[in-house]
Amino acid sequence: MKILKTTKELINYRKSLTCNVGFVPTMGALHQGHISLIKESVQKNNNTIVSIFVNPIQFLAGEDFTSYPNRQKADLKICELAGVDALFMPNTDEIYFENEPILVAPMKQSFILEGYQRPKHFDGVLRVVIKLLNLTKPTNAYFGKKDAQQLFLIQNMVKTLFLDTTIVPCEIIRDENGLALSSRNAYLDENEKLQALNISKSLKIASIEIMRGELHAEKIKEKMKEVLKELEVEYIEITNRKFDKIEKIDLKNCMILVAAKVGKTRLIDNMWI
Ligand code: AMP
Repeated sequence: MKILKTTKELINYRKSLTCNVGFVPTMGALHQGHISLIKESVQKNNNTIVSIFVNPIQFLAGEDFTSYPNRQKADLKICELAGVDALFMPNTDEIYFENEPILVAPMKQSFILEGYQRPKHFDGVLRVVIKLLNLTKPTNAYFGKKDAQQLFLIQNMVKTLFLDTTIVPCEIIRDENGLALSSRNAYLDENEKLQALNISKSLKIASIEIMRGELHAEKIKEKMKEVLKELEVEYIEITNRKFDKIEKIDLKNCMILVAAKVGKTRLIDNMWI
């Protein structure tokens, strides 16, 4: 596996590739969720490039940028074992310049839910993702459904800026108790891990309610609130796939999204109906 630290090395490496390229952007502290994306890419492409870059501009002041988990040695091993061909691990100076055009995420979907709680977060996400896509020019790029709003905004960016990459959405990977895997789970102590299970439990309760025939979003949200009452809930929302709030469940076009704090750790999860 090649380790590429500069954009120049990455550009030269990319030029040497003639077949399909799969790309998996990450912020490191890799877990089975990331590995599932990497495996999908390795299976479906001749070459797989993974990036590890903790993107400073997508963190708000006071968020965990400086303490974000860093497990470089383990990440390298994981990538190597998973069959990654090249790992791009740049410094911030390689990615950002003093004067550069700014990409702004569309208002409609970037200031609700995650964007409401974390204004300008998605501007930072799109800015780094477009740079990484331009550098790696992938045939396919893999993103998790766990970050549903991010996935939507990236698909929208790729379409509207005519980028020649297929965005491949990947299923949410959970631990044996249902907790959606996240690098931030590393912040949770044993007790908080137990509390955090209520997030996926609330989604399960919602799906059971829907299977029983309950289609009123508010009633489903009430049931979820009960399960989440011990946590500091930031939002519970039921939307269509374009993130418009809905009052009645449409079994073909619906998502249930939750964000909650467990202690100091902010976690998100969702379910696509
Ligand atoms: P991150 O390192 O958190 O920026 O995540 C990198 C990619 O992995 C993103 O596309 C995430 O949506 C995806 N991802 C993170 N956690 C999971 C998970 N539990 N299941 C599937 N994909 C995930």
